[in-house]
Amino acid sequence: MSYSIAIDGPAGAGKSTIAKLIAKKKGFIYVDTGAMYRAIALFLIEKGISADEQDKISSAVGEANVTISYENGEQIVWLNGRNVNGLIRTEEVSRMTSQSSVNKDVREKLVELQRELAKKENVVMDGRDIGTCVLPDANVKVYLTASSHVRAIRRSEELKAKGEPCELDVIEKDIIDRDYRDMHRDISPLRQAEDAVLLDSSDMTIDEVADAIINMCK
Ligand code: C5P
Repeated sequence: MSYSIAIDGPAGAGKSTIAKLIAKKKGFIYVDTGAMYRAIALFLIEKGISADEQDKISSAVGEANVTISYENGEQIVWLNGRNVNGLIRTEEVSRMTSQSSVNKDVREKLVELQRELAKKENVVMDGRDIGTCVLPDANVKVYLTASSHVRAIRRSEELKAKGEPCELDVIEKDIIDRDYRDMHRDISPLRQAEDAVLLDSSDMTIDEVADAIINMCK
């Protein structure tokens, strides 16, 4: 039986940084499910489909083949045979993702892919619905959060490091809007699973959070 660690939480709580670190320390595969939803959003943007056209999203999603592979421990997302890692982290894609991820057909397709991965490998999987829907029997479940202000500061530092101009209040508003949509959608809304451990990373270092989660695996 493979072992699974599920980490859910709102945007910018540090899920991917922590999950990557834990995967490295434990020799597990890191599965970034948000990147899969982002690849579908990119596909829709490129097809000129807008977020309110849910019927078109449902029929188009069948044409989007999303797969993942690993290179030096780094997850690569492929969209119809194209490596899209460098294209899915823009604010435009973030916004579209939180709107297209409410779609039932989008979710069904990706949840199946995620479950297949977790069946074959020991995984640290992060997202919004991993503990509640994708892997309800995960060995360890964590709900990782931080204040929206702290999360916006982290995000703007990331953007600055990449040389992308940004305004803190715009980022914070985007984060709050995204959280609202993720928490209030009908299918698999973001929430803490009953058996998940709540961790607030606002005043914790990356190593402190990672160690706390690794200790839960013992
Ligand atoms: O984690 P990340 O910020 O990359 O996720 C982008 C968006 O993808 C989220 O705002 C959410 O709408 C969607 N998502 C989801 N379910 C997941 C992972 C991400 O709905 N398991």
